[in-house]
Amino acid sequence: MLDNRQAKRLALPPRPSGFAEAGVPPLADRQGRTYRYLRLSVTDRCDLACLYCMPPSGEEDHALRKALLTFEEAARVVGVFAAGGIERVRFTGGEPLVRKDVVELVARVHRRVPHVTLAMTTNATRLGELARPLRAAGLGGVNVSLDTLDPERFRSLTRGGDVGRVKAGIHAALAEGMDVKLNVVPLRHDPASDGDLRELVDWAWGLGITPRFIELMPLGEGAKLPADWRMSATEVRAVLGDRLADRDAETPEGPVGPARYVPRRNGEGRIGFISAMSNEFCGTCNRVRVTARGDVRACLADRRAVSLRDVMRAGGSDADLAWAMRWALGGKAEGHFFADPSATEHENVGMSLIGG
Ligand code: SAM
Ligand code: SF4
Repeated sequence: MLDNRQAKRLALPPRPSGFAEAGVPPLADRQGRTYRYLRLSVTDRCDLACLYCMPPSGEEDHALRKALLTFEEAARVVGVFAAGGIERVRFTGGEPLVRKDVVELVARVHRRVPHVTLAMTTNATRLGELARPLRAAGLGGVNVSLDTLDPERFRSLTRGGDVGRVKAGIHAALAEGMDVKLNVVPLRHDPASDGDLRELVDWAWGLGITPRFIELMPLGEGAKLPADWRMSATEVRAVLGDRLADRDAETPEGPVGPARYVPRRNGEGRIGFISAMSNEFCGTCNRVRVTARGDVRACLADRRAVSLRDVMRAGGSDADLAWAMRWALGGKAEGHFFADPSATEHENVGMSLIGG
């Protein structure tokens, strides 16, 4: 248990007496939003360097190994979050599959919280080899990031990636019966890019996969790209044209995510839009992030962080951890201010460091 002096050193107010000692209260913030979804980053490294995410030489700020949460610490953090109401955990990064022994981490978390749904966001370059052991370890689904099927444009967008490996990874995950979705950041970076989006959607539907379009956010490298590269959900809809049913058919995803879905006009399939820029969904946000070093990040746009790692390494109890989580979420702002030209804090730190 932390004493008041330790709490002060960790910039935490003293834990109110009795807080979380008879059970972790539901995680909520001042706006009354409750938290059901945890995105847990397991590394800030990556084997690719997508133009909108990673600087050409990778992040200079790579965490030293001892700075990362150990597997035991990560499982403990998830256990306390689950006691506070988290129902789904998504492993992310950086690229989660480059973390050594990531399968063991998934298995450990699964053993700790078998009732929690486990998923991963990945670039899939290593999924061909790892889909089977990950599935056996308890991973239920993967969201694979893929912005074009064209080998040359993929190589240039990712600074060197091989799209063949990504496709092989997707096939391996499907063969294991995993739930697979595609995450696409639509960009007009090339005269052919509109055609790429149509090809990607048709390919995904052919495999029974739902593609989801994520509007580029001005985070880190994403803030440096030419403004005319960005595509809004409305522009993507226009490019996909008569492949999609009418706007009226749009349905929200339900209580667990920000995506809105539009069905295919003829046949099975749908696409999703995650439109943080053109259709802010902060009012219903139910997600919290933990970075690879164990900082709770209540919002992508907010640099404030509370270190769960330091709470644990100072000998904090599970009740202290729950208090640190509550404190981090309590300060969460109502929205992200991405469109406010005077708010530029978020431009300094990219998705790979926060955990996308
Ligand atoms: N490496 C994994 C991957 O690419 O799926 C997981 C981490 S990555 C940071 C998570 C997601 O963030 C990816 O789908 C990526 O496309 C998205 N992303 C990265 N930078 C972004 C930005 N500036 N705006 C919107 N999405 C971004
Ligand atoms: Fe790596 Fe994912 Fe970022 Fe691309 S989006 S550089 S794959 S972490």
